[in-house]
Amino acid sequence: MIVVMRPTATREEVSAVRRAVEEHGLEAFVSEGEERTVIGVVGADVDRVAHLGSYPGVDQVIRVTQPFKLASVEHHPERSRVRLGDATELGVPDELVVMAGPCSVESRDQLMQTARWVRHEGARVLRGGAFKPRTSPYTFQGLGIPALEILAEAREQTGMPVISEVTDPADVDIFDRYVDVLQVGSRNMHNFVLLRAVGQSRHPVLLKRGFGSTIEEWLLAAEYILSSGNPNVILCERGIRTFETATRNTLDLSAVPVLRQKTHLPIVVDPSHGTGQRPLVAPMALAGAAVGADGLLIEVHPDPPNARSDGDQSLSFEEFGDLMDELRRLQFVRTNGNGHHGDGMPTEAGATAASSANLDELRSRIDELDERLALIVQERASIALDVQRLRGGASHGHDVARERELLERAAGEDGGPLTPDELTAIFGAVLRASRSAQRRQARAAMARVTEPVA
Ligand code: PEP
Ligand code: MN
Repeated sequence: MIVVMRPTATREEVSAVRRAVEEHGLEAFVSEGEERTVIGVVGADVDRVAHLGSYPGVDQVIRVTQPFKLASVEHHPERSRVRLGDATELGVPDELVVMAGPCSVESRDQLMQTARWVRHEGARVLRGGAFKPRTSPYTFQGLGIPALEILAEAREQTGMPVISEVTDPADVDIFDRYVDVLQVGSRNMHNFVLLRAVGQSRHPVLLKRGFGSTIEEWLLAAEYILSSGNPNVILCERGIRTFETATRNTLDLSAVPVLRQKTHLPIVVDPSHGTGQRPLVAPMALAGAAVGADGLLIEVHPDPPNARSDGDQSLSFEEFGDLMDELRRLQFVRTNGNGHHGDGMPTEAGATAASSANLDELRSRIDELDERLALIVQERASIALDVQRLRGGASHGHDVARERELLERAAGEDGGPLTPDELTAIFGAVLRASRSAQRRQARAAMARVTEPVA
């Protein structure tokens, strides 16, 4: 049951409601919104306090028909925000928070390298498993406490808050000392003792969806944490088990808009466990962002093929960088005012007035080059169309041998900062675009030939 106070209700009126609830052996969860205070009443037989509707300062009493109460939108009509560490907030509209790092902490060096890299690319939270809930008891189980120490050191060095999975209720105190966010894993979503224990923590909890759980069961698991006194719960969709075997799990992205209708809690999508395969991670990460997730949880490893857990689904540094670029291009991840992401790393030159004048000069040269480049590729394409016309409108109009030669030349080129591969990618794109214009011209020519004569 939810007791909604009037915007004008006084502190004393709120206290009187709370007292009445507690006198009936029920629990009251007071949540102060921007406009008004709402009191969630939970316990057996809440109807006993239905008369609260006539108390001073009370606007209305709503019976929540959903089995979850504190997680419901009725209890908290505004979307909740959860603070991660000192500087990051999850649940801010249009601000996607990327959490990244290895599946498990394997060594100090592996974690530090990854931490620096993901931060450099714009991740805001560092992940790393210390206690791994593995399907087989014979596989790597995590480094345990030493991994937590390494995570704490990485936080110290990078300033990023850290998240790690807690598997044992007895470990909650230790986690509280070392990490900023406690993760409850998919296999433990129904571990009610653990849920109650993390409900006592002063840190936020990221609750993964059980791989065989419905959304309602998931929200009821969140309810265990909330009703134990911890209001900072984050839901993480990480894929469910279905009949499909092409992916490790079926990432249920429709859960995101469904949750939006039902709960105020922030939502994170984990495309790594959701797909289990490296090439699928970036597309599903973009899809998760598009469908309205507040955050993404992504596994990144310096050497995925040799990772001690979940290497198949871990992105390399380069792949993670590409994904972050794409998230920025699509404006899911914010950049600072200059359109680039600052990670607080010292710049080589230092930002003096002279170097910033220099920077402006270099940028305007790049702008000028980009303009010329656009004109040049257009000119190249229009010559390619002339060639095609000379050969007869509907002809293929391109010379495969000459194209191959061009690509081979590019592959042998080593005179600048671009590698032969990068140069080949550019010429490949130019040729593809040019071919596409030629195909359009051929189609138009063929349509003219087959048009009936009037
Ligand atoms: C993990 O995040 O590494 C993990 C074990 O996830 P899940 O609980 O979703 O399998
Ligand atoms: Mn993993």
